[in-house]
Amino acid sequence: MSEHVKQNKLFDPEVTDQARMYHAIAEMGEVGVLVLNDENRVEFANRMVSTITGFKTEELTGQNFTDFLDKKNRSIFQSLKSQSIGGITTFDKRTEKKISREIKINTAFSATVITEICLSIYSMLKSGKRKYIVYIRDISVQKKLTEELRESEKKHRNLFERIDQGICVTTKEGRFLDSNPALLKMLGYESKEEFLKIDINKDLYVNPEDRRVFQELIERDGFVKNYEVVYKKKNGGEIPVLMTSHVRKNEGGEVIGYQGLVMDISERIRMEQELREKHGFLSNLLESSPDCIVVADMQGNIIFFNRAAEKLTGYREKEVVGNFHITKLYPLEIARDILRKLRSEDFGGYGKAEKLMHTIYGKNSEEIPVSLSASIVYEGEKELATLGVFTDLREKIKTERELKEAQVRLLQSEKMASLGSLAAGVAHEINNPLGGIIIFASLLMEDFEADNDPRLEDLKKIVQEATRCKEIVKNLLEFGRQTESRFEPVDINKAVIDVLFFLENQVLFHDIRIIKHLDFSLPLCQGDPNQIKQIFMNMMVNAAEAMSENGGDLTITTGIIPDASSFFVSFQDTGTGIAPEIQSKIFDPFFTTKEVGKGTGLGLSTSYGIIQSHHGNIVVDSAVGKGTTFTITLPASHQESHETGA
Ligand code: ADP
Ligand code: MG
Repeated sequence: MSEHVKQNKLFDPEVTDQARMYHAIAEMGEVGVLVLNDENRVEFANRMVSTITGFKTEELTGQNFTDFLDKKNRSIFQSLKSQSIGGITTFDKRTEKKISREIKINTAFSATVITEICLSIYSMLKSGKRKYIVYIRDISVQKKLTEELRESEKKHRNLFERIDQGICVTTKEGRFLDSNPALLKMLGYESKEEFLKIDINKDLYVNPEDRRVFQELIERDGFVKNYEVVYKKKNGGEIPVLMTSHVRKNEGGEVIGYQGLVMDISERIRMEQELREKHGFLSNLLESSPDCIVVADMQGNIIFFNRAAEKLTGYREKEVVGNFHITKLYPLEIARDILRKLRSEDFGGYGKAEKLMHTIYGKNSEEIPVSLSASIVYEGEKELATLGVFTDLREKIKTERELKEAQVRLLQSEKMASLGSLAAGVAHEINNPLGGIIIFASLLMEDFEADNDPRLEDLKKIVQEATRCKEIVKNLLEFGRQTESRFEPVDINKAVIDVLFFLENQVLFHDIRIIKHLDFSLPLCQGDPNQIKQIFMNMMVNAAEAMSENGGDLTITTGIIPDASSFFVSFQDTGTGIAPEIQSKIFDPFFTTKEVGKGTGLGLSTSYGIIQSHHGNIVVDSAVGKGTTFTITLPASHQESHETGA
C-alpha cells in the first residue's frame, strides 16, 4: 500500500496550482469523487469517499476499487465503465439522463453501503493514459426510505383491497377515482371500471338531496362522521350506509374531492327494527292489558305504567314514569311488606306474591281497593325490577254489598211471609170466637143495663178488651195480606190530609205541631186507598208516640223524584230517635220497644208489606235524641197528575 501512496502525484507539493484548484473543487461537493487508473487503482479519493466507505483517504489510495465490490456489483461497475464515453459525464441519449448504477460498496465496518455511481472517462493529453472519474452518492438512507414507503404503500393497498368496509376516493364534482372491492361488492358492481363511471350525484344516493347535505357538511367542517344515508345498488336495490369522510386538497389547499369509509349498516338496521318490533309488541301487550301493570326499579321508582293503570289511578303515564316513587300509590310500610312477601316462599313462590289485598291512592287521594299480584323481574341472579298487576275491586265489592242487601231483603220477606201466614191462621181461628164473645157479652150487657146490675162496668171492660183484640186480629189479617186489596188511582196528598183530619184531634197529637210540605203537582198512585191511609196512620202514630214526652214537630213532605217516575212521602219527627242497633229490627213483625198493651210491633211490618205490594220502598234515617225520618217512595201510575186544590 505504501508503494501506492508514493504514486499519488496529486498530493505532490510539485503539482500545479490548477491541480490544487481541482482538488479543492472535488472536496467541495456532497459527493464522493474517485480518480481511478485503467486498472481501477485509486489515484485520488476525496474526503466524502472516506465518509461513505469508512476508509481513510490514504488507505484508499492505490487500492483496486473493485476490491471493495462483490462479484455482482463488480460486473455492474464494469458494464457502467463500458457504456461510458470520454470527456464528459455519460448521458443516456434517449432519456437524456445521466447514466448511473446502483452499486453496493463494502465498507470499513464490514457492512455495505448502497451508492449511486456514475462515471467520466478522461484521457491524459501527455501520456494518453485513461483515467476514470467516479462520482459516488450514498443513497442508502434514501433507498431505505423509498423501500419503507413502498412497503407501507403495499400494506395500505393490501388493507384497502381486503378490508370489508367500502373505501373510496371521489372528486368534488361527483366521480369515483378509486374504490376497493368491498365497496363494489356492497353495491353489486362486477368491475371497478364500470363503477368509476357512475355519476355520484345521480346514481348513488336514493335521495340525491343527501349528497348535497353531505357536501355542505364536509365543505364546512373538512370532515363528516357517521353520516347515515341510503345508497342505490347497481340493481336498483337500497342499502343503508354510514359514511365517514374527509376532504382531499391540492397543494394550493383547495378542496378537490373527498375520501372515506362506507359502512354497510343494513344488518344493524334490521336488528334494530326487529328489536323495536319485539319491544313494540311486548309494550303493546302490556299497554293493552285490562289489568293495571306498574313496574318499579328496586329503588321503588316507577318505570312503567300502562293505560289501565292510568285509568285506575287517574294519573297520566307521563307524569308518573321517571317522577313517581311507588309510595305515591301506597304507603312505605306496605311497599316494604310487599317486597318482604316477594322475597319469601310463602306467598306464591319465591319472587312472587299473589292476590294481596291493598288500598292504593289515586289522584285526588281517592282510596281504591285492589287485589295485587306482584313479582320480581330478574336478570340472572340480580333483582332488576318489581312488577305489580293491580285489579280494581270496587265493582266486585259493590256487587257483593248489593248481593248481601238483596239477601237481607229476601230474608226479611221470607220472615214476613211465614210469620204472616202463621199470624193469619191464628187470627182467623181467634176471629170467630172473639166475635162470639163480643156478641154474647153485648147481649149480657143489655140485660145488665136493664137490671142496673153493678157488674155492668166489668162487662163493659170485657167488651172493650175483646173489641181491642178484634182490632189486633184485624191488623194481623191485614199483615198476612188476607184482606183483599183494591187497586185504583190514589191521590197521595188527599190520603195524607184525610188521615190528619182523623188524627189531629186525638189526645196523642195535642202537643205536636204538624207541618205540611205537600207538592200538589204529584201524580196519582196506583194503589189501595185504605191500605195507603193505614201506612200513613202508622207513621204518624209512631211519630207522635216518639214525641209523647215533650211534644215536637211532625213534618210531612211529599214530592216528585226527578227522572224516576216515582214520588216520595216523608214523615219527619223530632222524637226520641231509634238506636242504631235496633234499626234493622223495627220492620220485624211483633218487634216493639213499647210496653205491653201499648205496642203490637205490627205497625211497621204491616206498612212494609203494603209498600212492597205497591212496588214501593221505605227507608229510615234516625239519630237518637234528634228524631227520625221515614221516607216512602211509591211508583207513579201512568195517569195524568191530579190537582186536588186542597
Ligand atoms: P209499635 O209502634 O207497636 O211498637 P211499630 O212496628 O209501629 O210497632 O214500631 C216498631 C218499633 O219501631 C217501635 O216500637 C219503636 O221502637 C220504633 N219506632 C217506629 N217509629 C218510630 C219513630 N218515629 N220514632 C222512634 N221509634 C220508632
Ligand atoms: Mg206503631
